[in-house]
Amino acid sequence: MVKNPFACGECRLILSDGVDQCPRHPSSKVSSDWQGYVIIRNPERSEVAKRLEIDVPGTYALKVIIGG
Ligand SMILES: [Zn+2]
Repeated sequence: MVKNPFACGECRLILSDGVDQCPRHPSSKVSSDWQGYVIIRNPERSEVAKRLEIDVPGTYALKVIIGG
């Protein structure tokens, strides 16, 4: 069974395999329990990026569930 990579609970950035800390939010919780994702290439031109408050290109989860 393949385990999901972690996503940052703060900015929802999906982290690389084996990475359990967001480079921009080292103190934020991460979770491998997330749903859907979107690839943002041009945040300044993307409506989705504006809605998700994303200003750095990357792959982002649409929803991150931080467990108890
Ligand atoms: Zn983050």
